[in-house]
Amino acid sequence: MNVAQSFPYAKPAFLDGKPKRLLIDGKWVDSLSGKTFETRDPATGELLATVAEGNAADIDLAVKAARRAFDGPWSKVKPFERQQMLLALADALDRNFEEMALLDALDMGGPISGLLGRRRRNVGMLRYYAGMATNLHGETIENSMQPGEYFSYTLKEPIGVVGAIIPWNGPLTAAIWKIGPAIATGCTIVLKPAEESPLSALRLGELALEVGFPEGVLNIVPGFGETAGAALAAHPDVDKIAFTGSHVTGQKILQASVGNLKRVSLELGGKSPDIVFADADLDLAVPGAGMGVFGNTGQVCSAGTRLFVERKVYDEFVGRVAEYGNSLRVGNGLDPTTQIGPLVSQQQLERVTGYLKIGRDEGARTISGGERLTKGDLAKGYFVPPTVFTDVKDDMRIAKEEIFGPVLSAIPFDDIDEVTRRANATSFGLGSGVWTRDVSKAHRLAKTIRAGSVWVNCYGAMDVAVPFGGYKMSGFGRESGIQHLDEYLNVKSVWIRTA
Ligand code: ADP
Repeated sequence: MNVAQSFPYAKPAFLDGKPKRLLIDGKWVDSLSGKTFETRDPATGELLATVAEGNAADIDLAVKAARRAFDGPWSKVKPFERQQMLLALADALDRNFEEMALLDALDMGGPISGLLGRRRRNVGMLRYYAGMATNLHGETIENSMQPGEYFSYTLKEPIGVVGAIIPWNGPLTAAIWKIGPAIATGCTIVLKPAEESPLSALRLGELALEVGFPEGVLNIVPGFGETAGAALAAHPDVDKIAFTGSHVTGQKILQASVGNLKRVSLELGGKSPDIVFADADLDLAVPGAGMGVFGNTGQVCSAGTRLFVERKVYDEFVGRVAEYGNSLRVGNGLDPTTQIGPLVSQQQLERVTGYLKIGRDEGARTISGGERLTKGDLAKGYFVPPTVFTDVKDDMRIAKEEIFGPVLSAIPFDDIDEVTRRANATSFGLGSGVWTRDVSKAHRLAKTIRAGSVWVNCYGAMDVAVPFGGYKMSGFGRESGIQHLDEYLNVKSVWIRTA
């Protein structure tokens, strides 16, 4: 692998040229079909690894292993022991963090500087869920039956076998976000990483075995969405699907869940509004709103892609955001100075460049970016620069549909009621931003915007203790925060007749 050698990082030991296998029942195995798929570096097209391609039969084996563990030895493992396991995994992740960050940088193209900067957050997430493992409790509840006749209380019990289906835009974070709560609550899990970026999840599986995760508790089956993913979503012995990905796939998952009415949580996409008032600290808002949409090459479900700017400062502000976008360094994610990496795949490149054309055809004006980059080494990868469209109308496709690329649609507005209405005129509701020095405006919008997160004078802040999730077609269920664990628990009511 030439690329890694030209940057200041050693090639991850995990990329040893050997095919990567499935983790089922505590063992690394080939897929039953013997099929494999390739995972490649989106910056260069170089082959990183071949990976066993799980399909429905492998998923079935993994679910059976997860069920055996759940019904058997795992059910006797105490919260304290689950806590110790998660803490040990957190320590192992901490020790191996550079390798994990490199695997994601290579697999999905993200800038290494940003990925390395997630150490505290990713390791901290595992520790947070470890803490929660000994913090699960039901309630004793006063009932209104005859006094003294009945005692009632609730138990919180693990829901069972969890199928976790995750995307490629933050592979390690997404894996931890499912494994953490599943193990903390005493569930077992079958994780299907995205076909574009399976490596960090597989390496995390190795670490889990090293620190003593028992057989069947964590199974990892890479494969394609329509085969492995669909089989997991439809499997009659899976109790819950925790899904992160596009809303179109979310709809399929929900449909697939009806056979056994499994619990589903969906963290889907968005078309998030970011609203800039003339009274805002524009020096803060320019990079804030810019990174709010260009960060991770726009491949963020909560990206602030609809930039509403108060008309008085519209031209100035949008021009400054375009300039800011032009100033960002686009390049190979392994370059420590890179701020914007490639898009993840050819398919994603086609999707994003397709929207660039749609925007132009619809009459929007491109004031920066707008074309794939093909100069020098960039030609080998899927590079699209930060792009700003102005003259965007609310009913254009670029103002309504999720692009999942570094593409901003800038729209002027005149007053707060108008912008509230227009910001909410979307079928999504994941993130939103408000930039103002006026505390009343900030609070009004925090209340009236229909989205799961409102960021005021910042964009995209996340913390494992603070819930994250969607309104409307951005999905349901919350990840992070205390409530997250309830997604993995059943509530049982117990009545004791005491009379
Ligand atoms: P994106 O379009 O961003 O790649 P997807 O929603 O297609 O997002 O992918 C997110 C995850 O969902 C991936 O792991 C993918 O393999 C999986 N997936 C895709 N299609 C299906 C499906 N029909 N059923 C279950 N999982 C799927």
